[in-house]
Amino acid sequence: MLNTSLASLLQDQLHGRVLTPGDDGYEEARVLFNGMIEHRPAMIAQCSGTADVIACVNFARENDVPIAAKGGGHGVAGRALVDDGLVVDLSPMRSVVVDPQLKTAQVQGGATLSDLDRETQAFGLATPAGVDSRTGVAGLALGGGMGHLARRFGLTVDNLQAADIVTADGKLRHVNESEHQDLFWALRGGGGNFGIVTSFDFRLHEVGPEVLVAQAFHLFDDAPDVLRFYRSFISEAPNEVGCFCLVLRVPPMEPFPPEHHGKIALALIANHSGNQDEGRRVLEPIESFGSPILSVITPMPYTQLQSNLDAGFPKGARYYWKSHYLPELSEAAIDTVIHQIGDLPGEFTGLGFEPMGGAINKVDPTATAFPHRNAAFGFAVFAGWQDASSDDEVIGWTRAFHDAMEPFSTGGTYVNYIQGDAGDEFRTAYGANFERLREIKKRYDPQGLFNAHQRIKAR
Ligand SMILES: Cc1cc2nc3c(=O)[nH]c(=O)nc-3n(C[C@H](O)[C@H](O)[C@H](O)COP(=O)(O)OP(=O)(O)OC[C@H]3O[C@@H](n4cnc5c(N)ncnc54)[C@H](O)[C@@H]3O)c2cc1C
Repeated sequence: MLNTSLASLLQDQLHGRVLTPGDDGYEEARVLFNGMIEHRPAMIAQCSGTADVIACVNFARENDVPIAAKGGGHGVAGRALVDDGLVVDLSPMRSVVVDPQLKTAQVQGGATLSDLDRETQAFGLATPAGVDSRTGVAGLALGGGMGHLARRFGLTVDNLQAADIVTADGKLRHVNESEHQDLFWALRGGGGNFGIVTSFDFRLHEVGPEVLVAQAFHLFDDAPDVLRFYRSFISEAPNEVGCFCLVLRVPPMEPFPPEHHGKIALALIANHSGNQDEGRRVLEPIESFGSPILSVITPMPYTQLQSNLDAGFPKGARYYWKSHYLPELSEAAIDTVIHQIGDLPGEFTGLGFEPMGGAINKVDPTATAFPHRNAAFGFAVFAGWQDASSDDEVIGWTRAFHDAMEPFSTGGTYVNYIQGDAGDEFRTAYGANFERLREIKKRYDPQGLFNAHQRIKAR
């Protein structure tokens, strides 16, 4: 445990507050999205700006203190916190500055997706991001960033034009295609291994303010036909279309028919972000296919689409996620999903098929650190539950499901869905880009300052 004089030494150098155990606000500041994470940092530095971040990095290096960065605190593995170390809490740094002429947004390292979407949508602009508005831009963007607009505009990393990062030597580096190109490459998928990003510069696109959304819910008995339909629909859909297929329990609320509340169902959540008349034509099959228990097609504010799924993942519940990338959705993979589903343990558990293709796969697998450009789908088991006594059951079910899907995987996994007990999964997350990332790590963080959790190691 670090002593209090070290904490006051750091406090003297910061504008923001340094919280230590027992301080007002400490317990609140160490709460993460995943209620299963119980790390207790020695200090949480609530940074007010880049100077605070630089001071924290220098302090950690000079005093040999483990350090971690906290963006939105949404990472299921809890790598935003470090036991007995220093947490660089970026949550006070949430500004988003949009240049509507240049169509760019400068986003501070603690902003959430809702901060980003609110500011960009004021100008009818957006950059592709994730599907939960509470997620931090930083963690999401550094790992890839998969969401409703990805088939049209690429991953979040594909829209990153530049970043400011404080590296292990305490220097602030501006990285882009011509300055520190290697680091810029690494940040686009390589996670938080290389330093603390204080600011991101994103390219924006004209989107909204409304997009067309089609949602259809089918009982799980119809899963084989629905999954086959989904496979063929998305393979033919234009890039303006995003369509997630989720397996979940029917929420116990209107407008879902009461007799189906709590049953296992498949949800097709599609959007068309282009011309709405064309969108209606393209999305019509989602609404009309099969025998849905609920099906609707309607224009929706883009910001509403971006927060549509938030309620399904309550903050503070227990979460354990695992993922694969699939080269195709084969008949054998569909059979396996049906065989493995059991009683879908965990009130908030779901499965997700995330469509790749389109603009995502136009990028070469080695052009950025995110390597999964040849996959057709991301597939994840998103287990979520409330009661700690169910931990073994739900985690065991999730691992068994993940193992059963292994034969259908590219061998890759999504770094942003890697759990705390990941073992070798970091290698599969970076695939062919792993060795290059290690070289860059050697250059910018040779002593492994940012290695508090299992990550890319310089040695
Ligand atoms: C409910 C839910 C929905 C999600 N939906 C999507 C989705 O649609 N698409 C998708 O791609 N992902 C999704 N994710 C995964 C998400 O991208 C990751 O959990 C991401 O890491 C969260 O970022 P954060 O900043 O909130 O996390 P944090 O927990 O704060 O950080 C995650 C990691 O990034 C590091 N980090 C954070 N900020 C910085 C920084 N400024 N500089 C350097 N390193 C930093 C942390 O140290 C940690 O290792 C979802 C997660 C949840 C829980």
